[in-house]
Amino acid sequence: MATIGSSDHARLNRIGSHVYWLPPDDTTDRPILGAVVGARGTLIVDAGNSPAHANLLLCELARLGVAPPRYVALTHWHWDHVCGTSASDVPILASRETRRVVAAMAELDWSDQALERRVREGNEIEFCRSMMCAELPDRSGLVIRPPDLSFDGEVALDLGGVTCRMVHVGGDHGADCSVVYVEGDRVMFLGDCLGDDLYHGAPAYTVDRLFPLLDRLLGFGAEWYLEAHDPEPVSAQQMAEDAATLRTIGRTVQRIGRDREAILAALPALLGGPLSEDHCACVDSFLAGLDRAPDVPGSAPAWAC
Ligand SMILES: [Zn+2]
Repeated sequence: MATIGSSDHARLNRIGSHVYWLPPDDTTDRPILGAVVGARGTLIVDAGNSPAHANLLLCELARLGVAPPRYVALTHWHWDHVCGTSASDVPILASRETRRVVAAMAELDWSDQALERRVREGNEIEFCRSMMCAELPDRSGLVIRPPDLSFDGEVALDLGGVTCRMVHVGGDHGADCSVVYVEGDRVMFLGDCLGDDLYHGAPAYTVDRLFPLLDRLLGFGAEWYLEAHDPEPVSAQQMAEDAATLRTIGRTVQRIGRDREAILAALPALLGGPLSEDHCACVDSFLAGLDRAPDVPGSAPAWAC
């Protein structure tokens, strides 16, 4: 078993004394799945994008002979994190807003026609539709289990020799986003909370949401961060550097405004080198964020309202 990092999507990795993680797979947008193993039980982090995805993790854990799953924690409502909920029957835990939206998802029609209609109406993203059809071509029997337990703010779980804090943090990606912090091991599952808002037109970052979130996440004192669609864990030092880059780009967009060329001309000197594709995408996200009403980023689609 690898200690850190593996490109094998079905291979369980270990980080810290109590934490395991299954790498993401961008073929069908499978996110990282996590397991925090205590003496009395195991916390599963995210349910995966299908029962098959969830079962990859559950089978690996059974093979290891660790304590059985006790809870499944959902970091947010997006399909790729919740469509594997029917693979086990242990209680599902999520923030109050995640619980509300996933309960609405459980009632939705997931046929091709219904998905296409939601894309046309602006209530689903074409990327998610195509990835979902690739992962789950037959969705006639799809069951999404809504969370059994919800919390406001934060909840602590003692699994026996290891304690996890599940903390609602919000952010541009979703107002409902939560993180799972494994104390002692100093490992944090970020879900997608550092992503941009994908559900309201062009992907968008807002300085008002992202900057306080960065401060808060760095304040936990984690040694390693796991972002749900990144293939490798991010060290505390790398996270601090990435946060500084995001802040520089966000501040520059704020200062210069909508002149994209002027922003791209100013940034290399401020960032100490040429711009990457990721930097340019980040500029575009902050530019899109300038046009967002303050209450739009992170809100759920119309079917959940
Ligand atoms: Zn997401």
